[in-house]
Amino acid sequence: MATEQKYVYSFGDGKADGGATMKNLLGGKGANLAEMTNIGLPVPAGFTITTEVCNYYTDNKQQYPPELKSQVETALSKTEKVMGAEFGSKTNPLLLSCRSGARESMPGMMDTVLNIGLNDETVAALAKQAQNEAFAWDSYRRFIQMYGSVVLGMKSADKKDEDPFEEILHHAKQSAGVQYDSELSADQLKQVAANFKQAIKKQTGADFPTDPVEQVWGAIGAVFGSWTNDRAIVYRRDYGIPHEWGTATNVQAMVYGNLGDDCATGVGLTRDCSMGLPGFNGDYLINAQGEDVVAGIRTPKRIEKTLGEDAPEAFQQLQNIGKTLEHHYKEVQDIEFTVQRGKVWMLQTRNAKRTGFAAVRIAVDLVNEGLITEQQALEPRRIPADDLSQLLQPIFDPTTKAEAQQQGKLLAKGINAGPGAASGKICFHAADAETAFEEDPNVQLVLVRRETSPEDLRGMRIANGILTAFGGASSHAALVSRQMGKVCIVGCSELNIDYHEGTMRVGDTVLREGDWISIDGFTGEVFEGQLATSPSEVVEVLIHKTKSPEESETFQRYQQLMKWADNARTMAVRTNADQPDQADEAIAFGAEGIGLCRTEHMFFDHLDEIREMILARSADVRKQAVDKLLPFQREDFAGLFRAMQNRPVTIRLLDPPLNEFLSHRHLSEQPELAETLAKSIGTTPEAIHQRIDELHEENPMLGHRGCRLGIVFPEITAMQARAVFEAACIVKKEGIDVHPEVMIPLVGFLTEFKNQEEIVRAQAKAVFEETGITVDYLVGTMIEVPRAALCADQIATAAEFFSFGTNDLTQTALGMSRDDYGGFIGFYQENDIIGADPFQTIDRDGVGRLMKIGVEGGRSTRENLKLGICGEHGGEPASVMFCHEIGLDYVSCSPRRVPVARLAAAQRALMP
Ligand code: ADP
Ligand code: MG
Ligand code: MG
Repeated sequence: MATEQKYVYSFGDGKADGGATMKNLLGGKGANLAEMTNIGLPVPAGFTITTEVCNYYTDNKQQYPPELKSQVETALSKTEKVMGAEFGSKTNPLLLSCRSGARESMPGMMDTVLNIGLNDETVAALAKQAQNEAFAWDSYRRFIQMYGSVVLGMKSADKKDEDPFEEILHHAKQSAGVQYDSELSADQLKQVAANFKQAIKKQTGADFPTDPVEQVWGAIGAVFGSWTNDRAIVYRRDYGIPHEWGTATNVQAMVYGNLGDDCATGVGLTRDCSMGLPGFNGDYLINAQGEDVVAGIRTPKRIEKTLGEDAPEAFQQLQNIGKTLEHHYKEVQDIEFTVQRGKVWMLQTRNAKRTGFAAVRIAVDLVNEGLITEQQALEPRRIPADDLSQLLQPIFDPTTKAEAQQQGKLLAKGINAGPGAASGKICFHAADAETAFEEDPNVQLVLVRRETSPEDLRGMRIANGILTAFGGASSHAALVSRQMGKVCIVGCSELNIDYHEGTMRVGDTVLREGDWISIDGFTGEVFEGQLATSPSEVVEVLIHKTKSPEESETFQRYQQLMKWADNARTMAVRTNADQPDQADEAIAFGAEGIGLCRTEHMFFDHLDEIREMILARSADVRKQAVDKLLPFQREDFAGLFRAMQNRPVTIRLLDPPLNEFLSHRHLSEQPELAETLAKSIGTTPEAIHQRIDELHEENPMLGHRGCRLGIVFPEITAMQARAVFEAACIVKKEGIDVHPEVMIPLVGFLTEFKNQEEIVRAQAKAVFEETGITVDYLVGTMIEVPRAALCADQIATAAEFFSFGTNDLTQTALGMSRDDYGGFIGFYQENDIIGADPFQTIDRDGVGRLMKIGVEGGRSTRENLKLGICGEHGGEPASVMFCHEIGLDYVSCSPRRVPVARLAAAQRALMP
């Protein structure tokens, strides 16, 4: 007989069917509830229904596998036994929570219902048992509220309206003359419950369900259904979580934080996750239930500050639990707990989300504390490589800040929840932020709200910073901001926000939607107006040298981490730089060479000469004009070689279409230009217009550019090559071991390469003879059109190195113009036509395939062919990892991305 498939996993009384390794099946929450049970921590008993059931439910019109019902019944009676109470009993009722939990945490995206099993009879039993009527009715009104909104779909109709339940509660508090719901009497709560039910009946037309079994299945269905709600889908798309994973549902015995003043609910972190400082910390509320802390209904108290006085035993238990967890998981934990009459119950643990600052500090500290190895510290899940860039972000300029303070621009102070500096125009609604962004992608906004909810996610991504009036360091706003790396201040209680009026008042100051504010996420300070910023500590130490390493703990840990990364990685990291100052900066960030110097950037400083060259109608005249550029180019290259010392420098020959330097657009923007140009080359303005007409191209990116320029106008290539080698010889004479690598752009045919190579080598030979100095150099090519990748074996017969120009390779492989894809890429992503933006992350299947073909073809001809990448992708972690996988020797990226690329390269090298 085939054994029945197991869909339900029980936990309780020190034993669990599952464990931490079973996240795929049980979700993160379920797996960790099982794990905590197994390691002896106090967890209320319950069971987890697997993610497979979720997928079944989604695929089968909201039906369950037939075996599920009896498995749930068995698990429920186990739970009843462990907890010594009975679900639905009229004397000793067990209440349940029904909780979502996917493989990766999706904070607040899906649903949870608490206090399931209450009706008019069980509520009386609960009151009698607890000898506390107010508690029982508080639990009941919470249940009706959560069940009403989650299962029965009661929501406010308009964004400016309050939640219908909150509205009723608000009135009840007002007429009772109390501030908090915990102050309402049993009778008042009874009335609230009755009003809730009435509102539900009015809006949905149905009576509130009284049968506990119907209630629990309703909640289970709602939890599985919440996997496919709008905000969960958006979240998954944003964070690259596959829709096929599904969520598990956890059904668990309730414990009560709302039984009285020796009870509490809270969330905690085993260390601070904003800056990374050690020590257990978190938020709690006395006499409250779970969601209250996170939702920012009352501003919670700080565990590390007052829990020791409010509940000394519970505080001690929590600290011990924190240590046990860190030692067991070897990672900072983010926990949810409830204190019921002095005893701590664990409701959740997971690896904590943290800012880039905290990530680096915690990883390095855990190594120094002996909990993990250096290699573990580098794991991407501990420090996503991208987050490292937060350490390189600007902060507010201290003097500007002091001035603003003196001028009375410091408005208020809240809780610093996400470090960094942000300025922007006040925006009160996430949806308005989205609209503003659609109109202007560069719009600068600070989202200002009483509190945030998962619906605000998209608006939060757009804003430079987030400011809330309520909520603590573990509120939704704080959590999500930390994950997004956003500047964030929460619990800024001096703010008086009026959504209807569209104003934010602080004392006598009234700010309106659209007014500028600045927020300092390090200190929690909120300023009126737009404040200037100054560089990060790491930048101060490395680049500006305005701080010594000893003065910055952030820098010290950054340095330690980067050393470990450099030990681990096998790929080199170069930079894209055209000027000595950029090169200096890149070296300070750890660059080991230049992977791309765009020579045309130098041309923009000498437009007169280049325009003269463009306008020339004969080779002679052109050569005269081009030769005027030689000394400038030589000087620029020499500066770059000096800055880079003995490191390799890849110089790409002129690449852009000539109309970037001279077109009708230039003439219309500068009315006197045609006249001036005509005078300087001895012709008429009409002739200038005519020449520009000739140069016009319908599709310049696929036109006369790249090596096609140097082939038709060999004088340009000759001049550039001569400038490179003359500069190299000059600098070599100064005692620097230069390594120029001359790169031919946009090659598709071997013949194109050979044509240009010949000119370059002839110039090298001539310069070496003239100067009596020889330098080692390479001539290679960019691989940026599909034909080059496909014919790489042929091209490598002559080319000594390849550098994948993945910007153009993506454009040409996808037939998608980088200048025009904005019109549809957003729609494509929202409709899951393509996942990541291919211009940010390498399209592995297509462009990546071409790169692989290029690598294999090239190396099949020339075993020691040097391979790199110089597209924008060279600083994006997933793409860097791909480059490692296909065996590139180096990646090259902008100076500020170099640390990110070093870390990503190390992370990939350490993966199996
Ligand atoms: P989320 O995934 O949004 O955090 P949870 O399922 O963790 O939702 O539930 C939110 C909160 O509800 C928990 O942090 C906890 O405080 C409370 N809660 C959940 N289950 C129980 C329970 N069995 N007893 C007491 N409180 C609970
Ligand atoms: Mg939770
Ligand atoms: Mg290109």
